[in-house]
This record gives sequence, structure tokens and C-alpha cells, in this order.
Amino acid sequence: MSYDPSNIFAKILRGEIPCKKAYEDDFALAIYDINPRAPLHILVIPKGPYTSCDDFVSNATDEEIVGFYRAVGKTINAADVISTGYRLISNTGVNAHQEVPHYHVHLVGGADLGKMMP
Ligand code: AMP
Repeated sequence: MSYDPSNIFAKILRGEIPCKKAYEDDFALAIYDINPRAPLHILVIPKGPYTSCDDFVSNATDEEIVGFYRAVGKTINAADVISTGYRLISNTGVNAHQEVPHYHVHLVGGADLGKMMP
């Protein structure tokens, strides 16, 4: 899948669309999901143009990869969910119903999330 710079997260990263920010640094922007599926639902988005996790880990620089996953950790810390637990999800492609073709990690928590799959 080639990267489409008109996707909604690219527009948010460029400041063309507003968002509710949870965390930001040079490597990532974390925003509150517009349609939360849990009391806490944050999306952590790398700043570079990558469509998926496999694209990101294959093509991003080591600095981008370390910076992004450190930002995921900082977002988890800031969200104060470590003692109660949380879930990270990354949907990729058709079978996973990925809606936005820019790599992102969902951080969900704040309640019992149930088993991983229905
Ligand atoms: P995915 O299926 O993993 O691609 O999920 C994309 C997520 O982006 C969904 O949970 C949407 O609710 C969320 N989303 C779409 N547009 C926005 C937006 N403008 N601001 C925040 N979250 C959004």
C-alpha cells in the first residue's frame, strides 16, 4: 500500500484539522480518538509517512522507531493506566478493518476491556 498524504491523520499532523492532543514530541503525536470505544482511547501516531506497522519497522530510521515507541511509553505513563492495565491495538489492512492508512497504535483502558477477541 503506498502512502496517501490526504489521509485524516496526515491532515492532523499538518495542522489542517484540529485534534485533542494527549502527548506530542518530535516523533509522535498522541490524540484522543473521536469515537472512543473505552473510557480511555488514545491514538499514538508517528510523524513520518508510514501506512502500517510493517511499513514503519521496515522503512523508518532507527531514531524514528525508538522515538515512536518511547512516545507510546510516555503516552501510557501520562494516561495513568499502568496500575489498572491497558491494551495496545494496531489494525492493519482489510481483515483488521483499518480505517486510516497512516500507522497508529490505539491505547485503550480505563475499564475492564474483556477478552481480546469476541
Ligand atoms: P483504525 O481502524 O485503526 O484505522 O482506526 C482509526 C481510528 O481513528 C478510529 O478509531 C476513529 O474513530 C479514529 N478517528 C478518525 N478520525 C479521527 C479524528 N479526526 N480525530 C480523532 N480520531 C479519529
